[in-house]
Amino acid sequence: MAPIQPGDSPGYTVHNAAIGLGSNLGNPLETIQKAWLDIQAHPGLFPVALSSPYHSEPVDMVSSRWFINAVGLVRTVLPPRSLLRFLQNIEQRYGRRHVPGQDGYDDRTLDLDLLLYEDAVISDEELTVPHPRMTERLFVMVPLVEVAAELIHPHHRKTMRTILRDLHKRKVRQKIMPRCWENGS
Ligand code: AMP
Repeated sequence: MAPIQPGDSPGYTVHNAAIGLGSNLGNPLETIQKAWLDIQAHPGLFPVALSSPYHSEPVDMVSSRWFINAVGLVRTVLPPRSLLRFLQNIEQRYGRRHVPGQDGYDDRTLDLDLLLYEDAVISDEELTVPHPRMTERLFVMVPLVEVAAELIHPHHRKTMRTILRDLHKRKVRQKIMPRCWENGS
């Protein structure tokens, strides 16, 4: 099926969305690269940008395994809940186990979070957008600023760059280091 091109399909409204990708089991760098390709394989999703990968220490959980995190920007004709379900479907393909850890989070082969969907504010049992913890997490905000620094957060009404600067000012200490993709891109 030929992909729908933004602008080519007057019947569709195309929306911007930001997706957080994370993994700390198996081969995280490879898993995230593959998952990004899986996301693009959907005919209703168009990749815009993928950040660098970042090596980051576990936050809000007890684990000796550091994560690889990245943020991808897409344009999509999918409504937000359909997009979330598609992301959950990809997580399951990578054998994500829903086994709660000591404080509710677990090591994971692949975690995909819908961070932002345009400037939509959604809060129900299934989906919360903007993602409620994104602005407290360097492993989200650092890659997000790399690809969308001037984006305005719908709640804070500040750019992502400013929110990250404020996190640094508050001396939030979460270890995070930039890496390179394995193919050198
Ligand atoms: P997690 O274990 O962190 O991947 O969380 C998965 C759960 O969070 C699922 O029950 C989702 O329905 C819910 N959820 C709520 N909002 C979001 C979001 N913005 N992105 C991903 N999962 C979400």
